[in-house]
Amino acid sequence: MTFSEEVIGWYEEHGRQLPWRGISNAYYIWLSEIILQQTRIEQGRSYYERFISTYPAVQDLAAAGEEQVLKTWQGLGYYSRARNLHAAARHIVDNLDGRFPDTYEGILALKGVGRYTAAAIASFAYKLPYPVIDGNVYRLVSRCFGIVTPIGTNAAYNEFEALLLRLMDKERPDVFNQAMMDFGSMQCRPFNVRDRLPAQTTGCGQCVLAHRCIAFREGKVGLLPVKSSAVPVKKRYFYYIDIRWQEKDTEWLLAHRRADDDIWRGLYEVPLLELRQPLPESDADSRLRRHIEAICGRQADTMEVHPPLVHKLTHRDIVAVYVVARIAAPPLRVDPSLRALPLSEWGRLPVSRLMERLFSKR
Ligand code: SF4
Repeated sequence: MTFSEEVIGWYEEHGRQLPWRGISNAYYIWLSEIILQQTRIEQGRSYYERFISTYPAVQDLAAAGEEQVLKTWQGLGYYSRARNLHAAARHIVDNLDGRFPDTYEGILALKGVGRYTAAAIASFAYKLPYPVIDGNVYRLVSRCFGIVTPIGTNAAYNEFEALLLRLMDKERPDVFNQAMMDFGSMQCRPFNVRDRLPAQTTGCGQCVLAHRCIAFREGKVGLLPVKSSAVPVKKRYFYYIDIRWQEKDTEWLLAHRRADDDIWRGLYEVPLLELRQPLPESDADSRLRRHIEAICGRQADTMEVHPPLVHKLTHRDIVAVYVVARIAAPPLRVDPSLRALPLSEWGRLPVSRLMERLFSKR
């Protein structure tokens, strides 16, 4: 049996049934692939269903406002994916007569689509022979063929792609790719360093590829794949200042839309004070009170400072402190970047996962 036959044979018995498999609608497959980047399948599934029911055709997505798309995306993180999805849908409608591109190059030219996603859409929707290479495929191939090239670089991608092209069943590139992804994720699992039991933790004990697997034969399962040196994690210190006041029966707050070229562009949050270092305890109360007065021209009647919460993003940790301040009357002045908003409207705005967490804890 060939490598491809063994992997596909395993897949036919053990592969996952997923709503975006076995379909040829390139638009749906594209949605699923963008949603699943950096997202677990269980979480991605509900967002996929939400997107295809809210925007059943690419024209529906293109016609929606950006805020609406961000709201549909809320909770998934990495919001640039939603903005790119929206921009690409508009490009397809405005410049491609509403037809999803049907070549690898055409798909790759869409905003937010890289080589992995283009290969996935091209093979799943159009059965074009482009191998998909995600973290699971890297792990499986590097172990089975004993490849020590550090993954995550263009050079590694090219090397793995060339090998996979030779291994691929060209009649069934879609099935081959799905089989590779599932095999890597379900059978050839990451080595659990704590347990140090590779055969049990990685699935080598019952693996149909064990007879040909170089890492298994040479006892190197825990050493592969080799990862490129890690990028250091940076810390950012966010003080969110939630300023509230009451007018008749309505509670108000100040909000602003992130507009700069930074994370969470286009999402809403309460006023933010970002610092290079955490505020020293001795100084924090007076600094925060001065800042509140600078924002709204009034002193805080009460101020509640919540304990810091660490929010992890790729290559950076956000240390966020939520401060709730009450002022006795409406602000005397409001910076033009801010907007006064009845509290009842807050829930309709797209916000980051961090903002959602902080807001729900207050
Ligand atoms: S034998 Fe182990 S390391 Fe090799 S392919 Fe199978 S599960 Fe992966």
